[in-house]
Amino acid sequence: MDWDIVISGAGLGGLCATSGLRRAGFRVLVLERDPSAFSRKQGYRININLAGDAALQKCLPAPHCALYRDTSHRQLDPSVDIFTPDLRLVAHREAEMPASGLPPTAVDRATLRAILLDAAGSVQFGAEVVDAIQQDNEVEVRLADGTRVTCGLLIGADGASSTLRRRILPGRDPQPLGSVAIYGKAPLDTGRLTWLPRGILQQRFVGVTDGAGTTLALGAWQPRRDPLEAAGALAPGVCLPGTAPFVMWVVLAPSEAVPGVVSRPEELHRFAMDALQGWDPTAVQFVRAADVPATFRIPLRAVPSVPVWSTGRITFLGDAVHAMSPAGGEGANTAMTDAASLVDALKAEGIGGVAAYENQMRQRARLALERSANYGRPASDGDADRTGASRYA
Ligand SMILES: Cc1cc2nc3c(=O)[nH]c(=O)nc-3n(C[C@H](O)[C@H](O)[C@H](O)COP(=O)(O)OP(=O)(O)OC[C@H]3O[C@@H](n4cnc5c(N)ncnc54)[C@H](O)[C@@H]3O)c2cc1C
Repeated sequence: MDWDIVISGAGLGGLCATSGLRRAGFRVLVLERDPSAFSRKQGYRININLAGDAALQKCLPAPHCALYRDTSHRQLDPSVDIFTPDLRLVAHREAEMPASGLPPTAVDRATLRAILLDAAGSVQFGAEVVDAIQQDNEVEVRLADGTRVTCGLLIGADGASSTLRRRILPGRDPQPLGSVAIYGKAPLDTGRLTWLPRGILQQRFVGVTDGAGTTLALGAWQPRRDPLEAAGALAPGVCLPGTAPFVMWVVLAPSEAVPGVVSRPEELHRFAMDALQGWDPTAVQFVRAADVPATFRIPLRAVPSVPVWSTGRITFLGDAVHAMSPAGGEGANTAMTDAASLVDALKAEGIGGVAAYENQMRQRARLALERSANYGRPASDGDADRTGASRYA
């Protein structure tokens, strides 16, 4: 057998698992379809929750974990405020708090990926997994270039469009949610922080919604510590992308309002500006000030339920089996939590731990799918309605 474990996909979940498994002494091969680490736009800002933070702590070496924390956003308040387009506050959501210390905050996705890549070690880029054949004592993994490798366990961490899921669990693709997300970012002008609305800079994020299907979400990334200085001090080998502080904006709109042909960054940016016509200029200023070439679109998809399969030598983690709406920021956190729990299971029982991992993963993913599907709905009386008390004042 060539490898103990092969991981298909070097996304957030796959890299987290690789780091934890290699630290535990497993011989791991990571195959990634993309030609290089940053060859495609993947998003800008990822909210990390308590579970995601615990997973990173478990899987990363201590210096990398410290670097992830030091380069996360200087957030003071982990709550979320939702406003109307004329900036009347309609909902306030508190966040889950740790027993002690500060709650985790948002990260720059490219910075986190660079930290994970360094912690994971080598990744084989330009290596697309197209099929896998399960035998009694091993799995044969087939690549697009005709290469074949064998391993004791294959982990499908190849994201929402997973090839492995299509081969092993046909008919379980995520389904369209009827919305499109247009993502972009604008420079965070730290020389002019005084004019920034407080919530966008200091809260987890701020939402503005017309209640008819169009929503704007805004959140900043201003790292706690200069990333290059932090890397030099904590983990000198890590090569960070040098991302400048930014405000991420996301316009969510009904799919039928954004024809598929609208795909170039300039067209998408123009569409986003049109969709927000008449909205308060305070919120729209970040879309107006966008770094236009950084704009891209993503169709939102989710699985109706987490698939069930007979436990064997092929398992899955993350979006490959439980893609969910990005509302609520659960997807990456759930993928990294899967990774940490799979590492624990394999360390404790080897391949015999996979069944327990799969049970836990399904329970965790079912709850995360429910939370993300219901994120936009008023939660409870605890979802304090402070209408009219604009925090932008
Ligand atoms: C713009 C945006 C914002 C988001 N914000 C948040 C947030 O704030 N918080 C949060 O928790 N989640 C967020 N999410 C969701 C989050 O990004 C995903 O849930 C998370 O990336 C899933 O991790 P993963 O490792 O399962 O898959 P991915 O990160 O998608 O990685 C899959 C990898 O597999 C590779 N691959 C695909 N096919 C193959 C193949 N055949 N062979 C080899 N490699 C292959 C892909 O190239 C990719 O690198 C956001 C998503 C988007 C798009």
